[in-house]
Amino acid sequence: MNIHEYQGKEVLRQYGVSVPRGKVAFTAEEAVAAAQELGSAVTVVKAQIHAGGRGKAGGVKIAKSLDDVRNFANELIGKVLVTHQTGPEGKEVKRLLIEEGCDIKKEYYVGVVVDRATGRIVMMASEEGGTEIEEVAAHSPEKIIKEIVDPVTGLLPFQARRLAYAINIPNELVNKAAGFMLKLYKAFEDKDCSIAEINPLVVTGSGDVMALDAKLNFDSNALFRHKDIVALRDLDEEDEKEIQASKYDLSYIALDGNIGCMVNGAGLAMATMDIIKYYGGEPANFLDVGGGATKEKVTEAFKIILSDANVKGIFVNIFGGIMKCDVIAEGVVAAARELGLDKPLVVRLEGTNVKLGKEILNGSGLNIVAADSMADGAQKIVSLVK
Ligand code: ADP
Ligand code: MG
Repeated sequence: MNIHEYQGKEVLRQYGVSVPRGKVAFTAEEAVAAAQELGSAVTVVKAQIHAGGRGKAGGVKIAKSLDDVRNFANELIGKVLVTHQTGPEGKEVKRLLIEEGCDIKKEYYVGVVVDRATGRIVMMASEEGGTEIEEVAAHSPEKIIKEIVDPVTGLLPFQARRLAYAINIPNELVNKAAGFMLKLYKAFEDKDCSIAEINPLVVTGSGDVMALDAKLNFDSNALFRHKDIVALRDLDEEDEKEIQASKYDLSYIALDGNIGCMVNGAGLAMATMDIIKYYGGEPANFLDVGGGATKEKVTEAFKIILSDANVKGIFVNIFGGIMKCDVIAEGVVAAARELGLDKPLVVRLEGTNVKLGKEILNGSGLNIVAADSMADGAQKIVSLVK
């Protein structure tokens, strides 16, 4: 789960991580009031969306007066911001962070991630802050320094100092920077983050080390023990179809292709997307309806797939093990009837109660193309949507 920058900074503040003073605003009036309260000479008006790259896209404005704050707030609220992370459709700005302007001397990068290769938490740091770390990783990977954290000890002070020295933090600020990193690590571990990225981490004119940006992601499997974090969820930022799917406990992820996929089992769902791509098609989603799905759950899943305007056809690929083919067939028929299905539907059924499942589909009067195998089904749906 993802949260906004201002919320991330609030979480970090609880751990003593240094962040600029700031306040969220939903309207231009609130923005002006927040700036007045901050009373700083320079105020920064920052668009709050669940995506980075806002600076380059005009989502971070430097205001020198309350009039500036009002103008920038009016300009940003309701604007669709397109950054390199939002995709071409962009994201509408509904919240702003009004923050005190910071006298930046130099920008650095610090990130904490769970590293799959080592199976450990890794803290990364770089002298090349502000720009996208992906660029640095691609062009000058030697400028990203890593410390692998032993889960028994956590990040150790010497590791934090080693990172600070390696990215050339001024000597007199190394202890401050190391302290920052240790607190950041503590926040990451305590809150079960999957990512904590500070880009930029800055050294200021007055000798402070602070986080000017904060991107925190949380492991959704651990959210049950972080009610405070769950409360920060902003449904406006999430895909409507994914929200709907989470209500029915369906593992659904929206993609940008045009072939809707209804599959049981995560492995088969991945393989189905692969085979669609292999035959030149583009999947519109990942969907695992799970083993114990009911007819209602299958119906909901089918509705979610069809609510995607890009979907030109659907491929149902079921291997009935625990999931029974007749349950899937009933769900498909019920949803298709309710919604008036007018798109090609290719079905490949195999396994438990397959005969019964096929009977239900054949007797439904729906225009269904039967497939003999996964490859056959993938080829059929790819050619039908072309
Ligand atoms: P994004 O990563 O989405 O572009 P950031 O929060 O990193 O957004 O802001 C982009 C840039 O704007 C920063 O690299 C920094 O130079 C500047 N900036 C952000 N917040 C402040 C602030 N409070 N004071 C001064 N400059 C800021
Ligand atoms: Mg940033």
